Amino acid sequence: MNRAIFLDRDGILNDLVFYPSHGEWESPRAVSDLRMLPGIAAPLISLQNAGWLLFIVTNQPSFAKGKTSLRDLEEVESAVIGSLAREGVRITASYECFHHPEAALSEWRVQCECRKPGTLFLRRAAAEHDIALSQSWMAGDQDSDLACGRAAGCRVALIEYPHSGNKRGVIEPDLRCRNLDELARALC
Ligand SMILES: [Mg+2]
Ligand SMILES: [Zn+2]
Repeated sequence: MNRAIFLDRDGILNDLVFYPSHGEWESPRAVSDLRMLPGIAAPLISLQNAGWLLFIVTNQPSFAKGKTSLRDLEEVESAVIGSLAREGVRITASYECFHHPEAALSEWRVQCECRKPGTLFLRRAAAEHDIALSQSWMAGDQDSDLACGRAAGCRVALIEYPHSGNKRGVIEPDLRCRNLDELARALC
């Protein structure tokens, strides 16, 4: 069986964006707002060379909330994967949840199982890519990432991204890192 690292995206691979209209640090709503975090390719390549399959698992409710278009969100995701690929990082699969329980758009207003801390995408990855979840890790910057990973039977690493400190602190991770460099040093 394979072992995987499930990477949250925003705050792990790319920066959050401060949108003054909402007064919050949020996921980029368009490619023009996307900034990849510096220095992430080397640790990700170390992890893949050590045998870890890399996945992205991300909640992207901005379209459901009426803030941007689905097409813009899909372009951001493609740009993240493309940017990593150009540096030699292979993402085995990327899973995005576009739902939100309080979405403005009624067809996206659902309590789904794919929105973290829901575990649908980790279970799907395990089934489709022969992953041993108990040998795998979820790495994210929020308690919802840690709760997702733990509920799926993975170990969980907290990446202490500075702009999301208000969305964590309740769940104690198995590993605490400042960035992906520290994660790779711990897992390679
Ligand atoms: Mg995040
Ligand atoms: Zn969902």
